Amino acid sequence: MLRLHANDPLDKTAMKILEDSDLFEISAEHLDKDHLMKIMPEIEVLVVRSATKVTSEVIEAGKKLKLIARAGVGLDNVDVESARKHNIIVRNTPGANAISVAELTFGLLLGLVRHIPRGTYGIKEGKWEKKELKGVEIFGKTIGLIGFGAIGREVAKRAIAFGMNVCAFDPFVKETDMEVELMTTVESLLEKSDVISLHVPLTPETKHIIGEKEISLMKDGVIIINASRGGTIDEQALYNGLVSGKVSGAALDVFEVEPPSDELRRKLVGLGNVICVPHVGASTSEGQKRVGLEMAKIIVEECKVMI
Ligand code: NAD
Repeated sequence: MLRLHANDPLDKTAMKILEDSDLFEISAEHLDKDHLMKIMPEIEVLVVRSATKVTSEVIEAGKKLKLIARAGVGLDNVDVESARKHNIIVRNTPGANAISVAELTFGLLLGLVRHIPRGTYGIKEGKWEKKELKGVEIFGKTIGLIGFGAIGREVAKRAIAFGMNVCAFDPFVKETDMEVELMTTVESLLEKSDVISLHVPLTPETKHIIGEKEISLMKDGVIIINASRGGTIDEQALYNGLVSGKVSGAALDVFEVEPPSDELRRKLVGLGNVICVPHVGASTSEGQKRVGLEMAKIIVEECKVMI
């Protein structure tokens, strides 16, 4: 039997698949770093979502560690290089939560342009701000997708259904059969788009892919949506753009610092033209079930050959 520790919660059905495989001795509980470090020497399979940071220190403590299973897409919480050095397999579940994130992206966009959060809070506070809450349509507008992978493509499908024009920039995607204009440079996308939505992983190349210079190239009154990773947008530059009016609104699921509790981010989320949610892009029953099932199947497949 292999000792498997799930440090972040997995869907119930997924846990059942792992239990029924009879391959594992399972523990499932979120341990803080110090406690995790203590059990790492005995662990052969470590399962995480985004909350656990699998640093090189954690990996090096895992003397018997064979597999790191990241239930979800982004691998920015796993030191993949260190895992590779120690011959530890790293697996994730690309695409499994794409629909959930794409739907949230549209929730954010529509919430922003139709002032849904402010309308809600106004009514709860006894206000009827009908005149103040005139919105804009997204029909006929151009949405620019930075990153055209699984989520970017799901967003594109929905944007087309809403009658939007769609363009995308992704250096690794050279063709598509969708009604999407692939741009050869990020700058051309920035200049063309009324709405810019990010769907890239956080890498050294995508860190602050939207900064002061990029915002200056955008259309006046542009809308920015980020349900990818905090750190892809330079939030000081975004704040400046929102205050100056260059950016008419931003809708954020992710922040470079989460929760956004420092001074800059308190100022950012306090702006009237910012709406936000606490990194819930993948948090749907269906998405988590899909991620969990896929992860459990991958873990069983990988581990069958280890025993
Ligand atoms: P994916 O790997 O299918 O797509 C990412 C795309 O980004 C790829 O096509 C890649 O070529 C492209 N890319 C890489 N570097 C780029 C660059 N410099 N410029 C433009 N494009 C670039 O991944 P996905 O499933 O579409 O997820 C995208 C990202 O969304 C994830 O990496 C993760 O950071 C984020 N995400 C967020 C949540 C959430 O809860 N908000 C949930 C899941 C994923």
